[in-house]
Order: sequence, then structure tokens, then C-alpha cells
Amino acid sequence: IISLIQNETPIMPWNELDAFWMPFTSNREFKSAPRMLTSAQGMHFTSDDGRKILDGTAGLWCVNAGHGREEIAKAAYDQLKELDFASAFQMGHPRPFQLAERLIQHTPEGLDHVFFTNSGSESVETALKIAVAYHRLNGNGSKTKFIGREKGYHGTNLGGISVGGLGSNRKDFNCLIPGVDHLQHTWIKGSEFTKGQPAKGAELADELESLIALHSADNIAAVIVEPVVGAGGVFIPPQGYLERLREITRQHDILLIFDEVITGFGRIGKPFAANRFQVTPDLLTTAKGLTNGAIPMGAVFAHNKIHQAFMNGPESSIELFHGYTYSGHPVASAVALATLDIYQHEGLFEQALALEHCWQEGLHSLSDLKAVKDIRNIGLIGAVELHPGDQPGQRGKQVFLDCYWQQNTLVRGIGDTLALSPPLIINEQQIHQLVEALRTAISKIP
Ligand code: PLP
Repeated sequence: IISLIQNETPIMPWNELDAFWMPFTSNREFKSAPRMLTSAQGMHFTSDDGRKILDGTAGLWCVNAGHGREEIAKAAYDQLKELDFASAFQMGHPRPFQLAERLIQHTPEGLDHVFFTNSGSESVETALKIAVAYHRLNGNGSKTKFIGREKGYHGTNLGGISVGGLGSNRKDFNCLIPGVDHLQHTWIKGSEFTKGQPAKGAELADELESLIALHSADNIAAVIVEPVVGAGGVFIPPQGYLERLREITRQHDILLIFDEVITGFGRIGKPFAANRFQVTPDLLTTAKGLTNGAIPMGAVFAHNKIHQAFMNGPESSIELFHGYTYSGHPVASAVALATLDIYQHEGLFEQALALEHCWQEGLHSLSDLKAVKDIRNIGLIGAVELHPGDQPGQRGKQVFLDCYWQQNTLVRGIGDTLALSPPLIINEQQIHQLVEALRTAISKIP
């Protein structure tokens, strides 16, 4: 099937681009000068004009083991032949059971149950719903509010944009879920060019005490944060901040949800950020790297105490009225199992830590450029923030376009920031190449 697809699909007529309404894209601008990627292998995409493009973004924070992995393609093909689909509603098939058992070997202690979804957005909605239902089962039906954080990104469904803290994702959709408040973001003036975690800022978590005083712990179900902010511009948690959030939430019987859609699966040098920061949330949401981006799948990890709360009713009852047709899809599960094999055999969960020094020094070498306002990094995540121009928010795109067309390098522009998250298979020479591409592109800014 794979060779048939490769050999017989007709070349796409690039002049017929109108029908596809592209997500999160300036559609008209894109279609006037398309940036079309046609194949990928290892650390590189190939563009339709035949250039090899160094992938500085792991696709979209997801292709952690690099592109074009044979083992993954084979797992998908074999699974499609053996069992293409079976429902997981009141039926079972082996792969998601196997996958869940494998996954919990990497989660922090106590996060031993897995609910499968199809995306990060669905993982977030699932976690929010589980949080409210959990409190209700415990007789605390008034605990329904959520606390998110400014600059947080939790996908694009209604729950996710409500707890999320990005104005542009919220402003056109005035039907957010009620009962949500936000902590302030964790970037502090004076912390510019910090390598790794800022030393100051743990006290920002104390704002949660004020929000609890305002709303009452009796009404709050959960606090949700990304341990490291990604799509909101890359912000690294100050030392002690996540620990403090954990302490306060525990004191008030408020669940702590870590959204690890980006940080999961080795991005910061451990399987999960929770492992690296040694802070265990009650619910942990993932997607992306779970299948190396090869097929849609997400997973929510739930602490035993939460799972147990659902298991007390009559055995014949459905414990959680929630799920997706494709929850635990056999092909996605087989792909995730093959991906886990690669991560383990190639030591990729440890790789971001092994490369952290080289990555950090490479990125921070750009601090001499006058256009650069701040540089932030942890594991194999990085951000280079630029001084805004006359029109704030445009510089990231400018550099992204220059990198793509002139430097054969893919980086991500977020406002005035360049966000970087290469596949974990990147080597030191490719890190230097990426940094040099950025240097050349950023140097063009007047
Ligand atoms: N949560 C976080 C932290 C993310 O970074 C993302 C996507 O970038 C999502 C949720 C949403 O994931 P998806 O796009 O798969 O729905």
C-alpha cells in the first residue's frame, strides 16, 4: 500500500489551492506564494522546488524521532491489514491496552491510567470534564470552575480556549465556557537572556491563593498550565513555581492539570516535564509526540485516585460518559507503540538533556544581535524574541519567511518571537546550522 501511494498518486496541481481552508494560516497570502512541502526524511523536509529544508520545529512540536521512520510506516501498514478498526465502546481490541501499559512505565508514579483521544485539544477537553466529574463523584458538585493562565495554549475547542490565555484565539468566539479565571503569565522583566529556568518568580504562583480567596476553593475544580509554555511564545517556569502550584492546589483539593502536549515524549530531556521538574499533576494531557506526529492521537494520564473515584458504582454502569469513535484507534495505537520502541531504543527521552548545553550556548550566541530582545531555552525548546518593529507582532513571520526561502530552514514565528523545537535526533552540527540560519535572517532586520 505504501509503495502504491508513493508511485501512483498523481502530482498535485499546485494551482488548485482554493478549496482547502487552511488552519491558523493567512490563506490568501499563502496561496499567492505557497510554501509546499512534499516529502520528509530524518531532519529534513523537501519542498516542491526541490530544496532540502532543515526542520527546526519537529513539524509542529511533534516529529520527535525525525521524519520518515520505516518502523512507524510498517506498524501502520501491518495494523491496517490485521485490524483496521474496531470500536472501544463496550468492545475491545489489543493495541490500546498494550499501549496504555507501555506508556505508564514512563509517567510519574501514580499516573497509571490512560484515556485516549485524537488530538491535544481533545485531551484538554477530556481532562477538564474528568476534573469536574471527579469532584461531583466525591460529593463536591460545586467544584466546577477552572483556573488557566495568561499566554497559555490549550488547543482550540471551547474548553481549551476558555482556559487558554491567548486573546487572539478567544476574541472572535464570545461563547467561552463560564467560570474561568487566569493566573498571570510567568515572564518577569529583568529575566531576559536567562539560560534554563529563571531563579526568580516562584512567588507568582501565590496569586492562586488570591484567586481561591475570590472564587472559593469549594467552587474550583482544577488549575491547568503548560509546564513550559509553547505556542504562547515559549516561557520557562521559574524555579519553584510549579512546586508552589502543586502545594497550593493540594491544600485546597483543587486538581492540577499539566498540559504536556508539547513537553511530553522527551522534549525537555525526560519522558514528561513532570518527570524533569519532579512535580506530579493529577491529570496530564498529551498528543503530538505520542505518535511522532505520524497519525492523530492524544492521551490523558489520570492519577489512580481519580480513576478509583469513577470505579465505585455498580459494575454494569458506564463510569465516564465520554469518549471518541477513534479513542484507542488500532492503527494510531500501533503507530504509538512503534514510536515508543524508537524512543526507547535510541534513548530519545534523554537526548534533549544530552544536547541541552550545545543548544543553549548556540541559541544564546545570538544575543549580540541588536534586533534580539530575549532568548529562552530548556531541553530542546528555544525562543528568540525580537524587538517589535513599527507594527508589533510581525518580526517572527519576517524571519520565518526569510529562513524558509533563503536559508532552507523551518522555524516558527509567533508574534515577534521565533520558537524552536527540532526533532530530538538533531546533531550538534545541525544545531549550529540552525543557529547560523537564524543569525543571517535576524541580521537583516534594520
Ligand atoms: N495543548 C498544548 C500545550 C499545545 O501546544 C497544543 C497544540 O499545539 C494543544 C494543546 C492542541 O493540540 P492539537 O492541535 O493536537 O489539538
